Amino acid sequence: MDMREIILAKYGEIALKGLNKHSFEEMLVKNIKRRLNPHGKFSYSRAQSTIYITPQDDQQDMDGAMEILSKVFGIASICRAYEVPKDFAEIKAQAAVLFDEKLSQARTFKVAAKRADKRYPMNSPEICTELGAMLLEKYPHLTVRVKNPEVTVTVEIREKSAYLHAGAEEGAGGIPVGSSGRAMLLLSGGIDSPVAGYMIAKRGVRVSAIHFESPPYTSERARLKVEKLAKKISEYCGNIEFFCVPFTEIQEQMRVHCPEEYFTVIMRRLMMEIAQRICAEQGIQALITGESIGQVASQTMDAMVCTDAVCRMPVFRPVVGMDKKEIIAISRRIDTFDISVEPYEDCCTVFTPKHPKTKPVLADVERAQLAYDYEPLIQKAVAETRFSLISFYQ
Ligand code: ATP
Ligand code: MG
Repeated sequence: MDMREIILAKYGEIALKGLNKHSFEEMLVKNIKRRLNPHGKFSYSRAQSTIYITPQDDQQDMDGAMEILSKVFGIASICRAYEVPKDFAEIKAQAAVLFDEKLSQARTFKVAAKRADKRYPMNSPEICTELGAMLLEKYPHLTVRVKNPEVTVTVEIREKSAYLHAGAEEGAGGIPVGSSGRAMLLLSGGIDSPVAGYMIAKRGVRVSAIHFESPPYTSERARLKVEKLAKKISEYCGNIEFFCVPFTEIQEQMRVHCPEEYFTVIMRRLMMEIAQRICAEQGIQALITGESIGQVASQTMDAMVCTDAVCRMPVFRPVVGMDKKEIIAISRRIDTFDISVEPYEDCCTVFTPKHPKTKPVLADVERAQLAYDYEPLIQKAVAETRFSLISFYQ
């Protein structure tokens, strides 16, 4: 029998708690297909909390497929495995061939066995003992080590076949995007907001993004940087609907009419207002920001209270309790950090006051905002918002 290399994508049962298992699985398979389709031809089947991904010809780039799958939320672990007949003599023979190179070079190994098919005539310890003995005989230089061996020869006995692999890699975790509603990420060019979007998508939320720009104070390249960030997180989030709001006129009027100390908090309230109107048009239910308490003067709790006073929908701030160091660690892991630190201006920084009020009082902020009627400009900004689709595979 020729040996087929396939990919096993496993989803943990824990993630299924409280969710409808069937729709969870459908969603996950759909997301995997959508990601892998541009990459090659695969067939999909599922059994026992595992999705079996089989390449349809020998040309498939399996490393590339693994890389893509490592970013699909809902997958707890992934591994490349060989499908072999369940006959134990066959398993032994194939294991010797498949692991020859690895075992020849290693000094320590162990055999791990999982038996999903409980009717199989041997139990897991028996499989480990027999296969281990056979391999020790063939490779007398090897020692068995249970803790941290160099090679783990893994045998999984499942319904249809047996599978041989060298152990699984950790998957992206979380739950499949699309199973938890939609939210709008306020995406700046900084470090925090892309991480915030990633974290909420991990919980199954489909993420759209909104960006406020103020040309000519902010450049075209600053916007392109934000689009690059959106594209980067789309490797995890899937396609992102991207809304770009022209914010120049509002900021110019604010500069004239708004006391400098309230500039940031009022600007934030106006951003939230515009974002919510676009959410209403799009059927999006919540907002996401990259704010973290006390990180900068405008992110105090008092400022958040004043911002949230204009919010009619939940505002998710997944990095709210994290230190900058922790946020940076995630941004490096998801590969947004290097883009985020490119030195382009953001509309927030262009007009930022030197001394924002760290403890704004809501009544004072509301009074300050009444000094000018922003409503016509809000409507104009919403009407002139540009939409584009940021896709993970183009
Ligand atoms: P980030 O690293 O995400 O830019 P930050 O620490 O620079 O955050 P601020 O500039 O105070 O913080 O912005 C706080 C949050 O407001 C951001 O995380 C983001 O969600 C939102 N935000 C800021 N500027 C913009 C913008 N130009 N367009 C859309 N959202 C923005
Ligand atoms: Mg910022």
